[in-house]
Amino acid sequence: MRDVISKLINALGPGKVITSTDVLRKYSRDFWPLLMMREQVFNEELPRPLAVIIPSNVDDVSTALRIINEGNDAVPVVIYGGGSSVTGASYGAGSIIIDMSRLNRIISIDTRDLLITVEAGARLRDVEDKLNEAGYSLRHIPQSFNYATIGGLIATMSSGQYSTLYGNVEDIVINLEVVLPNGEVTWLRSNNVPRASTGPSLKYLFIGSEGMLGVITKAVLRIVPLPTSIIYGTYEFSSFEQGIEALRELMVKRVTPAVARLYDGNESALRFGVNKPLLIISFEGYYDDLVQVLWRRADEIIKGYGGEYVGSKYFEDWLRTRFNVEEEIEAVKKYGLWFDTIEVSATWSRINQLYRDFRETLLRVDGVVGVMAHVSHLYINGACIYFTVLFKPNVNTYWELWSRAMETALRDGGSISHHHGIGILRSRWLRHELGNALSILRAVKTALDSKGVLNTKSGMFFPD
Ligand SMILES: Cc1cc2nc3c(=O)[nH]c(=O)nc-3n(C[C@H](O)[C@H](O)[C@H](O)COP(=O)(O)OP(=O)(O)OC[C@H]3O[C@@H](n4cnc5c(N)ncnc54)[C@H](O)[C@@H]3O)c2cc1C
Repeated sequence: MRDVISKLINALGPGKVITSTDVLRKYSRDFWPLLMMREQVFNEELPRPLAVIIPSNVDDVSTALRIINEGNDAVPVVIYGGGSSVTGASYGAGSIIIDMSRLNRIISIDTRDLLITVEAGARLRDVEDKLNEAGYSLRHIPQSFNYATIGGLIATMSSGQYSTLYGNVEDIVINLEVVLPNGEVTWLRSNNVPRASTGPSLKYLFIGSEGMLGVITKAVLRIVPLPTSIIYGTYEFSSFEQGIEALRELMVKRVTPAVARLYDGNESALRFGVNKPLLIISFEGYYDDLVQVLWRRADEIIKGYGGEYVGSKYFEDWLRTRFNVEEEIEAVKKYGLWFDTIEVSATWSRINQLYRDFRETLLRVDGVVGVMAHVSHLYINGACIYFTVLFKPNVNTYWELWSRAMETALRDGGSISHHHGIGILRSRWLRHELGNALSILRAVKTALDSKGVLNTKSGMFFPD
């Protein structure tokens, strides 16, 4: 191990390989609530990584991986973007971390073809600010906006608050430059085109790969002009189920909202002080009259399911507070509680059952004090349902509630994750969702990374 680190220091030069305890401590967790609970509630000193490499360019990444691959024993490597994974995917205890933060340049913005080329360590917020200055946007705005990097978003198959209209991250990736585990650097296509039928699309190998198949170093993404016409508001429902029916009809009739978030009565009470299901919804585009037509049609559909318009205030409350992550954590801690969020997806015919079963099962777990949910990220076939679980801080409670949640999602025909990814947290349940197809993933992993260098710590993806 020492030998590998000395070789890395020699090859990369000063300042790029760090082993000092103080710096390593900063990388000893990501945003996985289990690690945060251990650190912030139980005051545990978390195990640290072995070293942190901070490359300045793609050649540094390539050199580092080549050296690490040369040795006989695999030294585990974890790629670290913004460290905002909530599943332990960027948790690097006992590994060498590759911190992507210096690969943060915007290479070009092409407003004719609507493309941006950017290095993967760039923070989403910085990229979006630059695009906004020019009148453009990715319109990919997850709640981790202030932390996440472009590479991390792609590697976790992220979904943003406007995904219903603009798609998820997989819909905006045009091309990627990657460094394979053996150090080889390649673009996945030689040209940037809107679509190609040239065999299986290789970008999908890396979108959602959570740093286990290669390092994404550059991305070409599609951009859109900033919308100039936006209408938003809130509807109150007498039941969550009626709200879900309204969302389904909007999607089936292609009256597609930009943002649509239907909160159950529990979450509405906590967030907005209203003890009934609330739907905050917006439509946007570039022509007032077109957006007004969408709004009018949506209003008819929503009212047809008993929705009552209650003004724009709650939407504005959401807009103002939607990135207040630290405040929310402090509020939970003040009550002596801890929390996690569980986002699953299901088709329309299964979503109500899944909602009821989740609440019933999780509320029976010893130590769980609250379960609330909202539906967001809509599709013609179904949606994501996002649960927030409040519990008395305890590691056993944590694993018990996750086991029950994952078993319920699988039993009710949902996916175990809509957008937070697998990480260490969900690896043990992945084989139940993928079945025999997990062996395809294993074969790809073995072909690209025979020594199992990249992100296989703690059995990520392949716990056995
Ligand atoms: C408060 C909060 C809100 C969130 N809201 C959302 C949300 O709305 N939508 C959503 O989808 N997610 C959300 N997340 C989850 C998280 O932000 C996303 O998973 C995000 O994509 C992670 O980006 P990151 O740069 O922080 O990646 P990291 O946490 O650093 O890494 C995540 C994974 O990607 C890998 N990785 C990182 N960079 C690269 C790269 N360049 N090449 C290859 N692999 C790489 C890592 O090894 C790891 O496996 C939220 C998280 C937090 C803490």
